Amino acid sequence: MRIGQGFDVHRVAEGRELVLGGVRIPDHPGLAGHSDADVVGHAVADAILGAAALGDLGAHFPDTDRWRDASSMDILREVGRLLRAEGSDLVNVDATVIAESPRLGPHLPAMVANIAEALGVEPSIVSVKATSTDGLGTTGRGEGIAAAAVVLITS
Ligand code: MG
Repeated sequence: MRIGQGFDVHRVAEGRELVLGGVRIPDHPGLAGHSDADVVGHAVADAILGAAALGDLGAHFPDTDRWRDASSMDILREVGRLLRAEGSDLVNVDATVIAESPRLGPHLPAMVANIAEALGVEPSIVSVKATSTDGLGTTGRGEGIAAAAVVLITS
């Protein structure tokens, strides 16, 4: 077994659509970024790359035209392919979204379903949780939304 961790944060930006875990969340400003700025997808993808010691997300998905406005679910699909090419499989994924707003509880099951589908795994091995930082710091002031993830893979 091997473990990997990932972390991401993007700035809240008016005029952008908020996408977290592949779920479009209405009535809230989105996140700035070259791709869809989906911090959940990015944290999970980085955790998988880390577990397999395959470098980081920026190395595989640079800020080029190829990945402009790219869906994080497409990135996850590609990372899943890279993982299987190494002969590894996912054991489980556990991600936490860190945001003061919006309320994410109702959206978590859809995030799990999207991530599982993109990675080609059962939803039962994917966990997405939400928390806030009690008004403290970057996420607490609503300046950004962050996500952290850990994954376990077979080696
Ligand atoms: Mg990112």
